[in-house]
Amino acid sequence: MLIPIALIAVIVVAWYAWTHRDVRRCRWRADRTGDRRSLRKYTCVHCGAEAFTASKGPPKDCKRGLDRRL
Ligand SMILES: [Zn+2]
Repeated sequence: MLIPIALIAVIVVAWYAWTHRDVRRCRWRADRTGDRRSLRKYTCVHCGAEAFTASKGPPKDCKRGLDRRL
């Protein structure tokens, strides 16, 4: 009974580490030519994803996963 639970825990931890590694690798660059009023456009150098933020600074996570799910 303990073995399947341990296996699931390992998979969850590995998946968590994988997704967070991806987010850390994401490098956002401001693209002022794409700004829309108060929204600032950012392009990810790593995966090419585009995102808009209303707050200061780049997005916190990568949008690549969102595109894949749609
Ligand atoms: Zn990215």
